[in-house]
Amino acid sequence: MRWGKENTEMRKLCFILTLALSFQNVMAQTMGCIKAQFRDPFWVDTTSVDFQSIARMWNDYKCSVWEEECRKFYPTNTTENSRMPLSFWMKSEVEEYGNPDLLLQSFALSPYDFGQGEELFIGVEKRNDTLFEMRTLLFGDYPTERQLTGVFTIPVIKVSDNEYKFYSKLSLLKPTMQSTKIGWVTFYYPSTYHFDAEAANHTVKVANEFAAAIGLEHPKEVEYYLFNDRTEYFRYLGADVSCYDFIGCGRVYSHGFAFADCNKVFCTQGGESMAHEIIHFIIKEKTGRKRASMFEEGVCSFYGGHALQSKETSMSELKQWLENNPQIDLGVSLVSSYKDKDGRFVTDSTMAASQEKFVYSDFTSNYAYAIQMVVCEMTERKGGKDLVITMLREITEDDMEYEVIERYLGIKRDKVNRAIREYLNKNLK
Ligand SMILES: [Zn+2]
Repeated sequence: MRWGKENTEMRKLCFILTLALSFQNVMAQTMGCIKAQFRDPFWVDTTSVDFQSIARMWNDYKCSVWEEECRKFYPTNTTENSRMPLSFWMKSEVEEYGNPDLLLQSFALSPYDFGQGEELFIGVEKRNDTLFEMRTLLFGDYPTERQLTGVFTIPVIKVSDNEYKFYSKLSLLKPTMQSTKIGWVTFYYPSTYHFDAEAANHTVKVANEFAAAIGLEHPKEVEYYLFNDRTEYFRYLGADVSCYDFIGCGRVYSHGFAFADCNKVFCTQGGESMAHEIIHFIIKEKTGRKRASMFEEGVCSFYGGHALQSKETSMSELKQWLENNPQIDLGVSLVSSYKDKDGRFVTDSTMAASQEKFVYSDFTSNYAYAIQMVVCEMTERKGGKDLVITMLREITEDDMEYEVIERYLGIKRDKVNRAIREYLNKNLK
């Protein structure tokens, strides 16, 4: 969204700000008291020591995140005295989450947004003697310039007279959530959420079976958070307003995310029926692998579900999509390809509109995952779960997949496209 005139821009900002602040005010009203009183959104006591210290800490933090990102590319430029991003957080939060910056990890924010993106710092609210909440509005430059990323609240704890630390919103809200523990998985959800215990039991059973097959006796505890919709999910993580809240379908569009560092899963309604992310945790714990291969995505989707739909549905959609796109050769890539000038996927580079590659997916489906689900099913039919796990262990990089397929399934790379298409035609409606 690009805003043309300055005054239109300001009006939109005011609207968003008013909304953000209204939420909090409305929440504070007692039940039955409908008339909300709105504070002037532009009145903030910027002279207070707390405000100044917290605002400065936020700026220092953003610089620190940005510097850390730069260090990855220019390791020799390390400034010895610079403060590391994690040191801005309460120790308890680092222990709980690994990296407690759930905003950075969940909201398509990048260190670039922290370092260079536009921002409107809204203010600091005092909750009690030691708890503050700072609120800010961030813009991102993706997919187009100056997109609203969200209005974010980050709790701040005053540790001593001159020291403050960030705290996570989720840690504050967790005690208000309901929970159900099944084996080594604990499900957390708001009191308004209709928890499906049967689906959750089945999910843990599937996860247990996978853990047994890969030889992991005592998997690490998992926390599985469930929310009614995306708006609620984001709010528990600290986003008062996100760009999805005002898009009807975006708000309810199912969404899931796993934080592998801390074995936590966040999902919208229905997530308790999916073992997908838990299987990723099991594989990571057993193999020590940091990055999942695409084949691993297929394995997690095949056994643990993908996009809250049955594997038959995912594979039927793939079958249809391949029929509509005969120009795609899965022997060139199982994951991504170019697009032609009409936006169709093409594996032949001479038909490509640019050299940029796109993962096989559209708004409705992630075909790259479905392709891997088919490879997983073909493997399971040939040699059971044991063969699936053997291949999973051997495919450490995506470009090794064709040779592993040839070794265990006996399909040469130039026959893979035909084999997958024929398998789908034979086995799926
Ligand atoms: Zn996955």
